[in-house]
Amino acid sequence: MKLHNFNAGPSALPAEVIEQAAQALHNFNNSGLSLLEIGHRTPLFVPVMEEARQLVRELMQLDADHEVLLLHGGATLQFLQVPTNLLDPNGVASYTETGTWSIKAIKEASLLGKVSIAGSSAHDNFTSIPSSLEIDPRSAYLHITTNETIAGTQWHRIPYDCNCPLVADMSSDILSRSLDFNRFDLIYAGAQKNLGAAGVCLVVVNKNCLGKTSRTIPSFLDYQLHIKEGSMLNTPPVFAVYVLLLTLRWIKANGGVATMGKNNQQKATLLYETLERIPLVSLPVKKEDRSQMNAVFLIKDAALEKEFAAAAKAEGMIGIEGHRSVGGFRVSLYNAISLASVQTLTDFINEFARKKI
Ligand SMILES: *Cc1c(COP(=O)(O)O)cnc(C)c1O
Repeated sequence: MKLHNFNAGPSALPAEVIEQAAQALHNFNNSGLSLLEIGHRTPLFVPVMEEARQLVRELMQLDADHEVLLLHGGATLQFLQVPTNLLDPNGVASYTETGTWSIKAIKEASLLGKVSIAGSSAHDNFTSIPSSLEIDPRSAYLHITTNETIAGTQWHRIPYDCNCPLVADMSSDILSRSLDFNRFDLIYAGAQKNLGAAGVCLVVVNKNCLGKTSRTIPSFLDYQLHIKEGSMLNTPPVFAVYVLLLTLRWIKANGGVATMGKNNQQKATLLYETLERIPLVSLPVKKEDRSQMNAVFLIKDAALEKEFAAAAKAEGMIGIEGHRSVGGFRVSLYNAISLASVQTLTDFINEFARKKI
């Protein structure tokens, strides 16, 4: 049976990426050696790092002020690394509070300075995105989580005109749609949703906002040092960097970010329109704030939930249970998910609903 992998993260990758990664484990670029047993500063690996960073630059159409880093520690380390570099010990940073991930970012930033909440959707249990923001004029930066992976919300109007540097956690929607990436001062994204394998985190930073804090920054947390060392301050996560490179090549070969955006919109529209037509189902997220990446829905009759989950599994639909903290269902529609897989899923949902009438 063909499996349709709707996991939230780590999540589906293009089949050809998996195949090429497997090949590189056996014999990397006909060297006779595994990718895992070559030095990271050798002529075999250095071009991998260079091409990966260059492809990010190209796909995001970055200007010369923006630097591309591939770091360890996931998005979770960025919760700490961002304020370490951008927030003075006596300074203020503005954060939007839109769900689990932004709350974690706020917690870490609070250890390093004052956090001002510029907007929150806590009042409606994180089923919307704040429609207006109140930004402290002293803010070192404004932080948003462009896609809340667990709540299933997404910013569709980016607050570019916030009058301070704009920082974004894009872990679950990076390269899934066209944005004006140069208008962000810092973007970070763990790779394991839209960019490849776990173990590497993409950071894009405008170098003009660095070097301003009075804080003493430990070496490993210092973006300027990572820039100087070309993302090789220490041994990079070589396998994850290679899978990232393969995924970036796949995105480019398949039309780039704009085409990803068009496909993702089509997939999300098909799924949400199907769910809207089915009386068994409710959609908790405010319509205009729904995520194109993570569609969250509930089966109204709790007794049917288990049956729906089991039937989906039996048909090869993997990973559609909601996050353990919220329950219900969540279908992740990252770049590597094809429209055909979404069609198979919506056919299944329609069929399930028909039998229950
Ligand atoms: C998955 C996720 C994270 C955590 O990423 P790690 O790489 O596991 O640290 C952070 N933010 C968002 C929005 C996520 O989806």
